[in-house]
Amino acid sequence: MRTPAAGTERAASVAGAPGQGDRRPGSGSARLRARISTSRAGLSDLVVAAIAGGLLLLAGNLVAEFTAFEWTLWAIEVILALSLVLVWGYCGIFSFGQAAVYGIGGYAYGVFALNVAERTGETLSALVVAAVAGAVFAAALGYFMFYGNLSNIYVAIVTLATALVVFAIVNSTAGSAYRIGDAVLGGYNGMTRIPRITYRLPGGDPTTLTRVQFFAVCTGVALALALALRSAGRRPFGRIAVAVRENETRSSLLGYDVRRHKLLVFTLGGAIAGLAGGFYAAWGRFMSPTVFSLKPAALVVIWVLVGGRFSVSGAFVGVLVVEGLSSWLGGPSGDRASLLVGALLIGIVLGLRGGVVPTLGRLWREGVRPSLAGAAIRGDPAGSDPSSPRVPESGPRHDRPPSTPASTHPGGEAEVWLGAGAGDEAGKTIEDGDGAPGALLEVHGVSKRFGGVTALDDVTLAFVPRQPSCIIGPNGAGKSTLFGVLTGYHGVTAGTILLNGEDITRLGPHRRARLGLGIKMQVPSVYDALAAQENLWLAAYAASGDRDAAQRWAARILARLGLCEVADLAVGALAHGQRQWLEIGMALATNPSVILLDEPTAGMTRDETERTERLIAQLARHATVVVVEHDMEFVRRLDAPISVLHMGGLFTQGTFEELSRDERVLNIYLGRGADGPTGRTDADAG
Ligand code: ADP
Ligand code: MG
Repeated sequence: MRTPAAGTERAASVAGAPGQGDRRPGSGSARLRARISTSRAGLSDLVVAAIAGGLLLLAGNLVAEFTAFEWTLWAIEVILALSLVLVWGYCGIFSFGQAAVYGIGGYAYGVFALNVAERTGETLSALVVAAVAGAVFAAALGYFMFYGNLSNIYVAIVTLATALVVFAIVNSTAGSAYRIGDAVLGGYNGMTRIPRITYRLPGGDPTTLTRVQFFAVCTGVALALALALRSAGRRPFGRIAVAVRENETRSSLLGYDVRRHKLLVFTLGGAIAGLAGGFYAAWGRFMSPTVFSLKPAALVVIWVLVGGRFSVSGAFVGVLVVEGLSSWLGGPSGDRASLLVGALLIGIVLGLRGGVVPTLGRLWREGVRPSLAGAAIRGDPAGSDPSSPRVPESGPRHDRPPSTPASTHPGGEAEVWLGAGAGDEAGKTIEDGDGAPGALLEVHGVSKRFGGVTALDDVTLAFVPRQPSCIIGPNGAGKSTLFGVLTGYHGVTAGTILLNGEDITRLGPHRRARLGLGIKMQVPSVYDALAAQENLWLAAYAASGDRDAAQRWAARILARLGLCEVADLAVGALAHGQRQWLEIGMALATNPSVILLDEPTAGMTRDETERTERLIAQLARHATVVVVEHDMEFVRRLDAPISVLHMGGLFTQGTFEELSRDERVLNIYLGRGADGPTGRTDADAG
């Protein structure tokens, strides 16, 4: 038997990837090629950082002490900017509160150092306290924001409002009554006499860092953090953060706990901002509540916007451009200087969309080195810089499946539809029932209301393993909503959902995905800005948690989907059919026991439709497959039990033959007088 897998591979080798006829990765879309990272990336980062650090240290030793002092502040601000690159650039959380966390870290350093440094003769512990205070503050704030499901614009408002509230509180702590141990908070006068960075070797005397040493430490920390962030962008932690940024819905449907990941990233960003605040307190030996005011909050965002939000090196450039200009023009306090700097910044932000670093990177690639292969432009007119977390490492590109492919799913389950290589073998594997076992999925009395609209009304249905099930119904019948409540994308208004007898009604989408529910949504929900292979890697990693196995698995699915030629293209550049196909592949990469396919053949060519048909037949041999379709010819050939939904309720059930003789079905679905359900009803393509 010819499997869809074998079919796809053949199609790829003979006629190119499915749906490619109209959109080959030629001239235009090839420019959307994703970056191919290699293991050398980490090494070159290290070399660049070492050279930059060496040069800066040399310069710091040569310049006047005051200049080194000013540069130190810039290095500290780079650390703060990096925290926003992590939070906003990587994970898409638009925080206006990084400066506030920085302030919390500064005050924490001050309080701890004033109380403890006298006794212990060192303030390094106060730096740790600053980072911890920043992390705890961010974690508490993040918990309420993310578990309260705030959308991004509200996150921006809440973080800014929090900063202003803290400003008001700290501002009103003037007077000697407001003290923590030996530390007088000082209210609007600020906290003074904060100790410098002091360390003490075992048995030695307390030693305070000189200004140049302090500069070296801050620069070193900034560079080390930049390296760590770049490295994180190539590791699962950073790649999942990028996935969350690009498509929260898809991430949770794959099984990633989006809220938890955002909280983790935000907390880590808080620790970095807190540490920067600690350095700042030690640098100026003074903390004032103005750090919680609007201007610093906006400045951090401006640095990152100017440098490039997705760019780690952009944090350095943004701070240097903005602070350098302010300093050169006589400090931001001068009115005319402020105006000039402001005008320049607006020019940069509007003129160099995406920031300075990505723009320079693009010029370099397009103008200076037009022949550079694998340039990093990712479906975003703003482009991106090679260090961008927008483009996480996708591992080596595979033009064909690896010669020694994993024979089992990284999650440990036997292969499902991919087979062991040749199509016939694959067929055997599936007939032998080696795939993920299907599960019994039941809904009992499920209703779903959206305000006044009753999308589902007391629906009771069961989907059994080892055969496909089909759902049809006119536009607005509630088919997609039913899938939505099955996956947890929508909560139910009433009723229960059981998976293998277990009540999953209250579980979130990621928990259900982990129990084996996979879905292809009606409108393809993929990571448009990421490469096809990165999309598949994210799906496979969600199930396996093994980076390398997921990479191999993703490469195999890519080959079977016939998408190797477009493996490194941003998915947004693919044809609709290819995106549908990719999303089905992503659902399968998680090795699900239940697969929901919402209008899988919409926008597909005849050839792709046939392949999908074979794929469904194959999947249904072991998994539970539920298909929503409008193409009646497709439904007929599926030969599956059909449930008809109408106005949110279960109208009737039966085989295709039975239903095509049922007057009532013809009435509601096709209109009286039709010969039978034999063609796609385009009017119903909702
Ligand atoms: P189908 O997939 O069968 O075409 P849907 O499940 O998409 O139908 O929609 C069923 C009904 O629920 C429609 O009336 C639709 O307008 C409504 N609906 C679906 N999703 C939402 C939503 N998120 N908010 C409000 N109404 C919705
Ligand atoms: Mg629908």
